Amino acid sequence: MKQTLLKRKIVFLGPPGSGKGTQAQMLSKNFLIPHISTGDIFRNIIKTGKPKKLASSIKKYVQSGLLVPDDIVFKALYSVISRKKYYILDGYPRNINQAKLLDKALVKDGVDKVIYFKVSDKEIIKRLTSRRTCPKCGKVYNIYTLKPKNDELCDECNVKLIIRDDDKLETVKKRLEVYKKDTLPLLNYYKKKGILVTVNAEDKIENIYKKICDILLNEYK
Ligand code: AMP
Repeated sequence: MKQTLLKRKIVFLGPPGSGKGTQAQMLSKNFLIPHISTGDIFRNIIKTGKPKKLASSIKKYVQSGLLVPDDIVFKALYSVISRKKYYILDGYPRNINQAKLLDKALVKDGVDKVIYFKVSDKEIIKRLTSRRTCPKCGKVYNIYTLKPKNDELCDECNVKLIIRDDDKLETVKKRLEVYKKDTLPLLNYYKKKGILVTVNAEDKIENIYKKICDILLNEYK
């Protein structure tokens, strides 16, 4: 597909493991639109230990599958989005208050489209516990559906893939609980604004990708 800059502010909404990151990586590569993942931002802060105070305060939340407090998340996110015009947000917002903070920050133009990745709990648990991540570049694989070319090694960095702490079964269950309580109400919030579109996230990766491209490209021709 032709590489064109997708001039939109897009939110990917869905449970952990619904494929938001995978689809955002594909779109980002093909359309040169920045992919901003708050989860990646936090994992990077924890990995580098910088800034030190922030790293130690967010570690306990991320590793136990709990949400990082809204003010901390927004500060970290804003330092990135304030320098960009268009992007895909993956993992933000996670509750109504975060959505309101974002709307306030984007007072002039706002979010253009919200793509909801719909998928069952059973499928999520299967997917997350079979997920592998490159500790160097953050690329995400799945031992069933998105295998690396070389057993357990990252295609890009050749580094051994890992299971993220928050992809362990007990943490996955906790994350799903938090998702239902805090994040699901966002569906109504964006539905009311008329910018929510649902995709069947249990479909094949390439079909979901095509659907999202259709939604984003056809609508804004
Ligand atoms: P993710 O990779 O998006 O699943 O995020 C991993 C972890 O980072 C989450 O389980 C939370 O602890 C934290 N996190 C990421 N995004 C947010 C957010 N918008 N609000 C609060 N915590 C977040």
